[in-house]
Amino acid sequence: MNTMKIAVAGIGKIARDQHLPSIARSSAFELAAAVSRHGTVEGVDNFTDLDAFLKAREDVPAVALCVPPAPRYAMAVAAIRAGRHVLLEKPPGATVGEVEALAELARQNGVTLFATWHSRFAPAVEPARRWLAGKTIRHVEIVWKEDVRRWHPGQAWIWEAGGFGVFDPGINALSILTAIVPPVFVTRATLEVPENRRMPIGVALSMESLAGFAVEAVFDWRQEGPQTWEIRIDTDAGALVLADGGSRMSVDGDERQGGLEAEYDGIYQHFAALVEKGESDVDVAPLKLVADAFLVGRQVDVAPFHE
Ligand code: NAP
Repeated sequence: MNTMKIAVAGIGKIARDQHLPSIARSSAFELAAAVSRHGTVEGVDNFTDLDAFLKAREDVPAVALCVPPAPRYAMAVAAIRAGRHVLLEKPPGATVGEVEALAELARQNGVTLFATWHSRFAPAVEPARRWLAGKTIRHVEIVWKEDVRRWHPGQAWIWEAGGFGVFDPGINALSILTAIVPPVFVTRATLEVPENRRMPIGVALSMESLAGFAVEAVFDWRQEGPQTWEIRIDTDAGALVLADGGSRMSVDGDERQGGLEAEYDGIYQHFAALVEKGESDVDVAPLKLVADAFLVGRQVDVAPFHE
């Protein structure tokens, strides 16, 4: 396969931690440009504005959008209209409707749109899906507790409307859930919002499935010390536990063989395959659960949050 030139837009934490290293390791992509108002990447063309990049570098057919969800839609529209294949960081947009509109726009323009869910590429997620096949699920419990100061230092956008608050990590759990169990829907939610912020710092979410099981989820950003990203699925054949955000899997306490941690390498391999096949991959199921949680959620004021 020929190497495809790609640009990364939004040179922040995830672009530096994961996208740039994975592109550097990829045999399918070659970094050709970066678009960021403040960040730059050495050794490639740097732009502060996406439109300037799209005009100047028509030879770059793919763009990875690593900006926060709220500004992503306008950038995706510009890139798709300019005929580029687009990779969206999670969550793919600020609303379900705009992501569906992007999928339609990509179809009309004959380009690939890939709405990534990096946690689905964690090594134990596919083995868990295979283990669950044919088993009867009785109950699911999700505990996603982390320290926002540790993982999102200084990120103001995450507390604004369209920033998702604790749903930003919580949606990772929902992306795993929707990949490995039958469809679920939200029945109840409690959203704990700090008095001085707009988005929740804690969420309790109840879901149900027509398949006959309930899901209870707790997302919390106030967890100091050990961090917990765990999904427990009780079935007629034992209890499956996915730990460390989908990295490890056990059944009735027996640890199963895991694969290597390479979520973003998997994302770029999948993106290359989609482009090659002329297909898109846009699944809004996790985003719909978050949207429904905001629809039915009961908001509770909690103590102000200060960095
Ligand atoms: P971040 O560190 O704040 O970086 C985002 C970058 O986007 C900023 O550096 C900023 O660069 C650019 N940007 C463009 N428009 C912006 C706007 N209106 N407001 C703020 N920044 C804007 O955020 P991040 O942690 O990388 O997260 C970006 C996306 O990746 C989010 O959707 C997040 O859920 C996802 N993600 C993050 C992680 C993680 O560990 N942090 C993990 C997986 C996925 P310029 O100012 O230079 O333009």
